[in-house]
Amino acid sequence: MTMEKKVIKAETTSFRCKEIPLTRRELKNLLNYHIPCLCCGMEMLHPDTYTEILDNKRFTGKAADVIKELEPFEKIMHPVERQVFNMLKSMSEKYPDKDFQQLLVMKKEVHELALVKIQSSIFNKISFYRRILPKKTARQLRKLIIKTNDIIFDPEPHKPFSRRIFIHKIKNIISNIENKRIKDEILTIARRLPRSSDEVCAFVVKNARKRPEVIALNLIHPSVGTFEHLTPKCFKGQNNSLNFALECCYCNNSRHHFPISMQIEENPYMPENAQVQIDKLISLCKKDLCKKEYVENLASTLNSLSDGLIDIDVTNLYK
Ligand SMILES: [Zn+2]
Repeated sequence: MTMEKKVIKAETTSFRCKEIPLTRRELKNLLNYHIPCLCCGMEMLHPDTYTEILDNKRFTGKAADVIKELEPFEKIMHPVERQVFNMLKSMSEKYPDKDFQQLLVMKKEVHELALVKIQSSIFNKISFYRRILPKKTARQLRKLIIKTNDIIFDPEPHKPFSRRIFIHKIKNIISNIENKRIKDEILTIARRLPRSSDEVCAFVVKNARKRPEVIALNLIHPSVGTFEHLTPKCFKGQNNSLNFALECCYCNNSRHHFPISMQIEENPYMPENAQVQIDKLISLCKKDLCKKEYVENLASTLNSLSDGLIDIDVTNLYK
């Protein structure tokens, strides 16, 4: 709560005395210059390029053709997506007439087994807590795990397992536990459940259900550049470049409205990556492609919102 109050206060002050340094269009156009994501440091894709692909339906058709369309984007793909891309690429040489979905379906079984192995070991670890939880909570936990095991061990479940829903249910079950340490432990274990963004097997299983063109789009979608609200909208963060940082779609979505200090916990290299992005922006300022005021405001906002964890060196701006 203190965090929230502090954030709102800092925000209103900046609203009073600062001019908006860049328009939305100007900020978006910086993505033409290979800007790395503030958080993960990966190069981002200009959102207009992504929209152009969507509009022209360039990703429909046989795998071999779509691979050619995707090749220019390989260097900006995130690690799991790049692995899947390379898998599809070598498969498309063998089966040039199949589409992406047909290829993923061929791989689904083996990846699903791998995924179920990881998932069930995590459910086992969570089940252990039944021994130390209050009786009612333990009973609810047992019920959830039995239901979830029914889903993951069924080769054709009625509804596929959803990590998001599972974590939501776990949160509800443990919400009444007083021991915060145990609560955190259970949630930390649950969060280790693979996401399609961090395990190839989870990507294959999830995407084998999607249309071929959606699979192709999902390979590059995490890399699309977005405006991250440094102070989240729900904490009255402004909707302009005084409160915007350039972040890839994946990092932006995974932060939700959590404070930056928590985002750093999940991404320990964020302070270094933020410096790399700002160095790049400074070099654009020297060519009159970005504004000094934007960089100054970004550096000081990051510093105050991260309680000093992101301590940017902007001296090059004045050299
Ligand atoms: Zn990122």
